[in-house]
Amino acid sequence: MIRFGPSGNSQSFYDDGNKTSVQAPKWLSEKGLNAYEFSFGRGYTMGLKTATDLGNEAEKYGVKVSIHAPYYINLANPDEEMKIKSFGYIIKGLELLKAMRGNHLVFHVASQGKMERAEATALAEKRLVELSKVLDFEGENKDLFLCLETMGKPLQIGTFKEIIDLCTISSNFIPCFDFGHINALTGGGLKKVEDYLEILNYSIEKLGFERTKNCHIHFSKIEYGAKGEIRHLNYDDTVYGPEFDPLAKALKMLNLTPVVICESKTMMAEDACALKNIYEKTPKI
Ligand SMILES: [Zn+2]
Ligand SMILES: [Zn+2]
Repeated sequence: MIRFGPSGNSQSFYDDGNKTSVQAPKWLSEKGLNAYEFSFGRGYTMGLKTATDLGNEAEKYGVKVSIHAPYYINLANPDEEMKIKSFGYIIKGLELLKAMRGNHLVFHVASQGKMERAEATALAEKRLVELSKVLDFEGENKDLFLCLETMGKPLQIGTFKEIIDLCTISSNFIPCFDFGHINALTGGGLKKVEDYLEILNYSIEKLGFERTKNCHIHFSKIEYGAKGEIRHLNYDDTVYGPEFDPLAKALKMLNLTPVVICESKTMMAEDACALKNIYEKTPKI
């Protein structure tokens, strides 16, 4: 089943009198949404007790929770200690994710820093191989997926091809296609249904249908300049794009049922509803 939901809480969530994210699943389900991403971009700020309460509410209202791990994870940092820290942030995220009864942990793989790109990508790859061995994907973590995100700035590791290629390392790695990022990085390259099909078909070819079908998607309009991503916008922006209609068409053509998370600036829940409406109005071809 395809799912739609916001990353974080809309302004209107608070305007409606809600105080804590534990109240989000009920509020989202009343809007017809069934996914919710909790961002720990600036660090983990939630204990296991609250995560469990949130997970119980999510279960009750049929909302699937995903987590965004801290932005400072960097698997291409040559320092061994930083590697151990990065692994730790992912392990901590998986603990919270289990308490929230979710399966998708999103993170930014790496930044190339002063390294050559090929060198940075090779190091990130080596570390991902190591990480996949550390995490118990055969046993207690078998239903958990690390979602490697496509990125919006040139020095970040995360073009769609890099991400898909890195996902071949483990069957518990899936892409998080952030189409706003891809559009920003390519200076507005996502316009037609073919632009989306190229990406999704490359994923099907490399990772197979099942993993592409259950991939994770971030969607929001993003302002960009010569150096890629500048800032997230709401869906009513008419300048930067991308538009969701061609992606909705591509998803229906390929029979894909991802989790679609809207990362708009202040109206993420409203805009997730807008994306869902576009999807539902798109005829099956
Ligand atoms: Zn992200
Ligand atoms: Zn994103």
